Amino acid sequence: MSNSKNDSKNRKSGKQAGRLSEDQIKENFSDMHPPLTASQAYIEACRCYFCFDAPCTAACPTDIDIPEFIKRIQCGNLKGSAHKILEQNIMGGMCARVCPTEELCEEACVRNTHEEKPVAIGLLQRYTTDEVIEKKVPLFNRKPTTGKKVAVVGAGPAGLSCAHRLATLGHQIKVFDRNKKAGGLNEYGIAAYKVLGDIAQKEIEYILEIGGIEIKNNFQLGVDLTLDQLRDDFDAVFIGVGLVGVNPFEIPGEAVDGVADAVNYIADLRQADHKSDLPVGDKVVVIGGGMTAIDIAVQSKKLGASEVTILYRRDQANMKASEYEQHYAQINDVKLRFCSSPKQILSEDGHVTGIEFDMTEVDPDGNVAKTGKTYRLEADVIFKAIGQTLLAEHLGESAGGPSIEDGRIAVNDERKTSLDNVWAGGDCVAGGEDLTVCAVQDGKLAAQSIHTYLQSA
Ligand SMILES: Cc1cc2nc3c(=O)[nH]c(=O)nc-3n(C[C@H](O)[C@H](O)[C@H](O)COP(=O)(O)OP(=O)(O)OC[C@H]3O[C@@H](n4cnc5c(N)ncnc54)[C@H](O)[C@@H]3O)c2cc1C
Ligand code: SF4
Repeated sequence: MSNSKNDSKNRKSGKQAGRLSEDQIKENFSDMHPPLTASQAYIEACRCYFCFDAPCTAACPTDIDIPEFIKRIQCGNLKGSAHKILEQNIMGGMCARVCPTEELCEEACVRNTHEEKPVAIGLLQRYTTDEVIEKKVPLFNRKPTTGKKVAVVGAGPAGLSCAHRLATLGHQIKVFDRNKKAGGLNEYGIAAYKVLGDIAQKEIEYILEIGGIEIKNNFQLGVDLTLDQLRDDFDAVFIGVGLVGVNPFEIPGEAVDGVADAVNYIADLRQADHKSDLPVGDKVVVIGGGMTAIDIAVQSKKLGASEVTILYRRDQANMKASEYEQHYAQINDVKLRFCSSPKQILSEDGHVTGIEFDMTEVDPDGNVAKTGKTYRLEADVIFKAIGQTLLAEHLGESAGGPSIEDGRIAVNDERKTSLDNVWAGGDCVAGGEDLTVCAVQDGKLAAQSIHTYLQSA
């Protein structure tokens, strides 16, 4: 990534649009893992040992039969290969781009023990699914209509996966989403360099091709209608609302220009026609230790910030972002600083100028204690990437809503909530992994359980 303008001695502090040219930004945001050509895909497919009881399949949260889909690439049967993937994971196109494969299927690949590199499962998955999604190749048939109606709240990976499976089984689905566009974080959250073009919307178009799914946008549960109304009007309800609340910072001085929520900025970035129009800080500080912190930091750098630092209150071993993600941030010139807990925001005339941190130490049980030492960093933009929360009040928590556990919806193994005809899945449920692929699996499991319920109702 070239940042020639960053070297300028005349850089302006504060938020500025156009720190880099649109062409430079395009180059910086080029595909993180470019797609395979046909011959590369064939050669990569030939590296697979086609293991019996394949560990990669066991490591995939959606149970894709990985050796079988790879074998079909080797035989030139791309349609059959895509079918193997999409029958288990209808969002296999997005997952191929966003799954942390280094911690899932590719980590389990036996090639890791013999050689240095696992089979590139994610790229092979992308190779085959792109073809059918792009050409809208029909791979699934809808069963005769059952006359049963299901409401799905949230058009993110969990909701759309549930909707597709239920539609395939012949039920009629209405999806409600508070956003202008469907897709949830696939459309508004995932880093722009992982999902180039309009793959998120193309995948949704592919999903809707099955028929029997209607999406109603700009419609918010808890505002435009209640869960009780949905439970009365539909035979079953699936809740896949994700986490749209933001954890408060709760440090003095927060309410000044330049302190922003990372997820909102990432959404603006994903929706921008011209990324060079987005205002970017020169010295950017990111508070947090997860994937969102890495994404906002790397993207700030790619937009032209000269100094980007992620600060995390625990030590590196406790950071939620994987080693791979930390490495990716570092090779993009993002600094990582640990054991630093935000103490107060510094500002002048209503604009942020810096931040003061308490230095901390972490004991072997992960408890954090302040050391009594502090330090300051200059900043013209500070991003909060300290996690999202469930807006439980939208579910009618105090008036007969589903049971809540650790701030999220409690579900059983079939993703059924405490309420009679209500299921839930994805980020909004307790005990999950907060990954796209896990949300897709939740939606699928819930759909199977809803189908069984509807058959006996
Ligand atoms: C910045 C960021 C980057 C990420 N990067 C990755 C990544 O690289 N790889 C990965 O695997 N995972 C990543 N994740 C996590 C992943 O995006 C989520 O785990 C996944 O999107 C969860 O899907 P979901 O359907 O549960 O929720 P969401 O995708 O959040 O979708 C929820 C939907 O519900 C709608 N909604 C919310 N409330 C209401 C309401 N009251 N009424 C109607 N509709 C409502 C929302 O508008 C939204 O469309 C990232 C997350 C973030 C925040
Ligand atoms: S869905 Fe994700 S984890 Fe599963 S095989 Fe595909 S890339 Fe790997």
